[in-house]
Amino acid sequence: MLDRYRDKRDASRTPEPFGEPRPGSDDSFVIHEHHARSLHWDLRLERAGVLASWAIPKGLPPDPKVNHLAVHTEDHPMEYATFEGEIPQGEYGGGAMSIWDRGTYETEKWTDREVKIVLHGERASGRFVLFQTDGKNWMIHRMDPATRDPLPPAEPMLAMRRSRAPKDLSRYAAEFAWGGRRTIATIDGGRTNVKLLRPLAERFGSRAAMLDGELVTLQGVEVFVCFDVLYDDGVSLVGEPYTRRRELLEELDVSGPRWLTAPAWAGEFAAVRQAAREQRLPGVVLKRLDSPYVPGESKHWLHLPS
Ligand code: MN
Repeated sequence: MLDRYRDKRDASRTPEPFGEPRPGSDDSFVIHEHHARSLHWDLRLERAGVLASWAIPKGLPPDPKVNHLAVHTEDHPMEYATFEGEIPQGEYGGGAMSIWDRGTYETEKWTDREVKIVLHGERASGRFVLFQTDGKNWMIHRMDPATRDPLPPAEPMLAMRRSRAPKDLSRYAAEFAWGGRRTIATIDGGRTNVKLLRPLAERFGSRAAMLDGELVTLQGVEVFVCFDVLYDDGVSLVGEPYTRRRELLEELDVSGPRWLTAPAWAGEFAAVRQAAREQRLPGVVLKRLDSPYVPGESKHWLHLPS
């Protein structure tokens, strides 16, 4: 049962455990987050003395409408249920392995082609079914209702062009217009549609998010300048006012080699426009502090030339 596990590994090179099958009550599970060459989550179910395992590239599906690929992998020894560590590069599964969740589970059905379970973990809970498709691949399907809000449409809110600033400036925040390529980044299951944000997406792990911003070339390097957050950690934020989204964005601390959070100044305008001129930026965008995020052109966002 563990022959395949041992064949793939060299005990002198990997810190992973090597144990014998250890029959128990077939009711414990662990999910590892595995930052191998490609990020994935490993679902392991105690069964007949070993951990039956599936590698799930996008993690457990949060929504019954979307099934996720689950690659059936070799059985692991029971000791693996508490294993966390760094598998050396070049070894099988090289990369960081950490426990994403563990707990108990119930078996509703277990055949060679279908496994129906109820997970009772801290983060993973509910009914799931793993089933083999025509080939050797498996899929995992959530049988319970979705545990998170659906992602909002990836359609940007656009500013109207104005030549003069409104009178009630205290109701707006001023940001630079960057003159870059408007981009909404979706981060889901550790993946993203924006190539240069891949390391950031991997750091988000299983936390889904949508960030609005622009791809801008600064000092010869293309960076993602982020100025809004539309979704985070299972919650849609498009109905929240600008001020709340801005707070949440700042808490996310989007700052790294290829991504940064755009500055914003509530109640300011003249000084921001002056700075935009000095930095040869095309203009200033005034955003109403109390406005939700609405796709398309909106009178709540005003673009003024610098
Ligand atoms: Mn793995």
